[in-house]
Amino acid sequence: MLNHTPKELIERKALRINPAKTCQPIGAMYAALGIHGCLPHSHGCQGCCSYHRSHLTRHYKEPVMASTSSFTEGASVFGGAPNLRQALKTIFTVYKPDVVAVHTTCLSETIGDDIPTIVKKSAEDGIIPQGKWVIHTNTPSYVGSHVTGFSNMVAGMVNYFPQKGDATAGQVNVIPGYVEPSDMREIKRILKEMGINGIVFPDTSDVLDTPQTGEYKLFPKGGTPVSDLMGIGRSEVTLALGSFASQQAATLLEHKHSVPFKVLDLPIGVSATDRLVQALMDATGKKPTDEMMHDRGRLVDIIIDYQHYLYGKKVALFGDPDQLIALTEFLKGAGMRPKYVITGTRGIRFEKRVTAMVKDCTPDAVVKANNDLFYLHQLIKNDPVDLIIGNTYGKYIARAEDIPLVRFGFPIMDRVGHSYFPTVGYRGGIYLLMNIINTLLERQDRDDPEERFELVM
Ligand code: SF4
Repeated sequence: MLNHTPKELIERKALRINPAKTCQPIGAMYAALGIHGCLPHSHGCQGCCSYHRSHLTRHYKEPVMASTSSFTEGASVFGGAPNLRQALKTIFTVYKPDVVAVHTTCLSETIGDDIPTIVKKSAEDGIIPQGKWVIHTNTPSYVGSHVTGFSNMVAGMVNYFPQKGDATAGQVNVIPGYVEPSDMREIKRILKEMGINGIVFPDTSDVLDTPQTGEYKLFPKGGTPVSDLMGIGRSEVTLALGSFASQQAATLLEHKHSVPFKVLDLPIGVSATDRLVQALMDATGKKPTDEMMHDRGRLVDIIIDYQHYLYGKKVALFGDPDQLIALTEFLKGAGMRPKYVITGTRGIRFEKRVTAMVKDCTPDAVVKANNDLFYLHQLIKNDPVDLIIGNTYGKYIARAEDIPLVRFGFPIMDRVGHSYFPTVGYRGGIYLLMNIINTLLERQDRDDPEERFELVM
């Protein structure tokens, strides 16, 4: 399908073709699903909500529930306040969530609906039952990306939930970043293994990776409980994983409740996971267990054992900035050469960080924020790579250029496993590296001439 992408690069400023991102409310909806008993609510027209739900459903293969203010022509002209009030009445009467998390869309942002005032008036008029919560964030999709929307909704949680009170000794907040339910589960496992009293928020494990029991639950058992979210202002420290997705909320929590924070990369690979473990040790005095050290040793062992298949391999990466930063460091440490690193999210700091990271191993690397897959395809046409790592949309480039693709990031709509097997932590690193190495070996088996076709690799 992309066989006709031209090789010649022309600078484009006002046009994106196949953007390497999706729209803000998708990230906000995903974050909201990480609160227990929460119904995400899209304040806009039905089409936006349907698109956001179906995109998440296609990635997680789970039903994603969300409500909408269902704008028609009248609301588009006169504002959506009556729609939101009616929606809240219906939601609390019929579906009975603990929390409704409202995010806006391009349309309601353009009208300029004042959500806090509508919510306040609804509470005064008794539309919001006692003990229930309506939180909100603004997600105009003509700026930012799904990562921005995620970050905004997590900041929205910090705006509404934390309650004042004495500090809880040893309690640590972890904002896991825009990662899979499996990754959030792995971060919780690491905290438990180290004996740390941690609050991970948001937490989509057991919400978007639920087991089949034969019984449908509108609000599955997972998600950060509201009682935990009310306590995040009393934690001793917040660890914000991934600056693009998590720093905003951590900064707000420090500002509002004086909880200091530390921003870390997503713990993908040996070094980034070491830094998370060290930060947890510094914050709590707890030590990693032997089991964790053995996991670390196994990850290092795989890197050494398969070094000759990884070393010098040129790789093109695209996706979300926090994931690309961590992934670049991991791959470079494993001997690979990140040649193209492209995100659709804006961020000069992303370009500076990744360029500095790869300058010694790949001096001619191209690192771009706010860019698209058309550009990545052109770069690959001019100077091919051995491997592409990115989401499902990369399969068209992979097919056109006959380059293997490892699926990683969001969305993955044509493979299974991403929501069940983590890529963070030492164990996640083993899974991710196994996926990369096996993909390279499959390719080698396919391409090797008869005399080089080996049984043992
Ligand atoms: S980009 Fe705007 S209009 Fe389009 S789906 Fe997203 S929120 Fe709706």
